[in-house]
Amino acid sequence: MDHRLSPELEELRRTVEEFAHDVVAPKIGDFYERHEFPYEIVREMGRMGLFGLPFPEEYGGMGGDYLALGIALEELARVDSSVAITLEAGVSLGAMPIHLFGTDDQKREWLPRLCSGELLGAFGLTEPDGGSDAGATRTTARLDPATDEWVINGSKCFITNSGTDITGLVTVTAVTGRKPDGKPLISSIIVPSGTPGFTVAAPYSKVGWNASDTRELSFADVRVPAANLLGEEGRGYAQFLRILDEGRIAIAALATGLAQGCVDESVKYAKERHAFGRPIGANQAIQFKIADMEMKAHTARLAWRDAASRLVSGEPFKKEAALAKLYSSTIAVDNARDATQVHGGYGFMNEYPVARMWRDSKILEIGEGTSEVQRMLIARELGLVS
Ligand SMILES: Cc1cc2nc3c(=O)[nH]c(=O)nc-3n(C[C@H](O)[C@H](O)[C@H](O)COP(=O)(O)OP(=O)(O)OC[C@H]3O[C@@H](n4cnc5c(N)ncnc54)[C@H](O)[C@@H]3O)c2cc1C
Repeated sequence: MDHRLSPELEELRRTVEEFAHDVVAPKIGDFYERHEFPYEIVREMGRMGLFGLPFPEEYGGMGGDYLALGIALEELARVDSSVAITLEAGVSLGAMPIHLFGTDDQKREWLPRLCSGELLGAFGLTEPDGGSDAGATRTTARLDPATDEWVINGSKCFITNSGTDITGLVTVTAVTGRKPDGKPLISSIIVPSGTPGFTVAAPYSKVGWNASDTRELSFADVRVPAANLLGEEGRGYAQFLRILDEGRIAIAALATGLAQGCVDESVKYAKERHAFGRPIGANQAIQFKIADMEMKAHTARLAWRDAASRLVSGEPFKKEAALAKLYSSTIAVDNARDATQVHGGYGFMNEYPVARMWRDSKILEIGEGTSEVQRMLIARELGLVS
C-alpha cells in the first residue's frame, strides 16, 4: 500500500499550493474582514478547473475523483477556509447531486456551467427546526397536475453558496407525500435562483468563514417544472445520506488543510519570534507543541486519503469517512488553539492567519454532520445500534 501521491496528483497539489500562496493569501484577509464574497478568487478557481475536478470531461469536468478534490481542498484550506468551503460546497453539495442522480438533460443543462465555476450550486437540507435530524424536513412540495409543476413551501437555513451573484440553483429536500406507514416521502428538487417566491435572506453574521456565503432561504408557492425532480420521488433521504457520506471526506481534507496551515504558521513564527534572548522555537515546550500538531495533521491526512481511496475504488467507505471527519475536525480545533498560543498576543489579532484559522475551525465540528452524529454513524457501523 502506497499513500504517496501519483505524479499527476502531486502536480495538482503543487499547482493549488502555489495558487493559495500567490493569489489567495495576499488578498483573502481583506475580504474576510469586510465579510465579502471573493468573486475574483472564485473566478480564478473556476478558470483552473477546480470546480470540475471530480466530474467527467464530457460535462466540462477534469475527469478526476474525490482524491483530487481532497488534495485541492487541503491545499486551499492550509491558507484559507472560506475559499475552500466555497469549492467544497460548490462541488460536493452543489454539482455532485446532479452528477450522481440527475437525468441526462439535467446534467447537460447544469454541469458544464457548474464545472467551469460560471455558476455555483447549493444544497438545501437543513431547516430551522432540523439539522442533525434531517428526516424531520417540513418543507413541502406538491405536484400541481394542472400545470405539471412542483409547488414548494417552507424554509431552509445555513445554506452555503445560496445567495451569491453567481448562484445558479439550490437543490432542496421537501416532503412530497406519505408512505403507507405514514412516514414522509422526501424528494430532492432543483430550484433555479430567481424563481418567483424563492427568497434569499441577507448573509448571516458568522463567527468564521466570513468570506463564504451562507443564507436562510424561504419558499412561498415556488413553482418549478415537474422535470426538476432529482432522481426518483421519495429517494431524497437516501440521496442526501450518500451526498453527506462523500462530503465528509471533503470536509476532512479541508480540516486537515487547516490543521496543517496551523503548523506552517507556527513553525515560521517560532523561528522569528524572540523571547528571553532566543527564538521561542528553541524552547522544548514550543517544539513539542508543534510536533504534536504535525502528528495530528499527518494522521488526519492518512484518514481522509484512506476514506477517499475506498470511495474511488468502489469499496464501502461510510465508517472511514465518519472517522476521518470526526478526527480531522477535532484536531483542526486543537491545532488552531495551539497555533494561537504559539503566537501569543499576535495570535489574537485578525491580521495573523492563525486568528482566522481559530475562528474557522469550530464549524468543522458542526457542519455536514456534527461530531456527535459522526460518533452515531461509527457506532452503527460497529454494530452497536440495532
Ligand atoms: C456556516 C454553516 C454552513 C452550512 N452549510 C449548509 C449547507 O450548505 N446545506 C445544509 O443543508 N446545511 C448546512 N449547514 C447546516 C449544518 O449541517 C447543521 O448546522 C448541522 O448539521 C447541525 O444541525 P443543527 O444546527 O440543526 O444542530 P442540531 O441538530 O439541533 O444539534 C444541536 C446539538 O445537539 C446534538 N445532537 C442532536 N441530536 C443528537 C443525538 N441524537 N445524540 C447526541 N447529540 C445530538 C448535535 O450534535 C449538536 O451538538 C451549515 C451550517 C453552518 C453553521
